Amino acid sequence: MSDENNKLNGSRIAREKHTIEAMLHIYCRDHHQTQGKLCNECHQLLKYAHRRLDTCPFQETKPACNQCQVHCYSTMMRDRVKSVMRYAGPRMTLRHPVLSLYHLLDKLREVPELGKKKP
Ligand SMILES: [Zn+2]
Repeated sequence: MSDENNKLNGSRIAREKHTIEAMLHIYCRDHHQTQGKLCNECHQLLKYAHRRLDTCPFQETKPACNQCQVHCYSTMMRDRVKSVMRYAGPRMTLRHPVLSLYHLLDKLREVPELGKKKP
């Protein structure tokens, strides 16, 4: 079994962490000319995204982020993550065909306006 499949057998949160990391690598490589590792800015964003997943109140029952009523990202971070996903999303299909099936985070770009909550 491939490494990627092993990761997919883990928790939903673990899978989403892996997805955002893979997307950030694609984005960073093409936008910041990095090789195999993230620049500081993208690393911060990754850490932020992982922390949001760690504290997601739903965990294994987590809905797709675009259907979630808890908009846990700050506006600034959400904008940054959306740019990464818009760029890396279509490219994931080629590089990570299995992961892209689970590409729930991509739907962040269509966050509905209902159930807005102020922190
Ligand atoms: Zn970068």
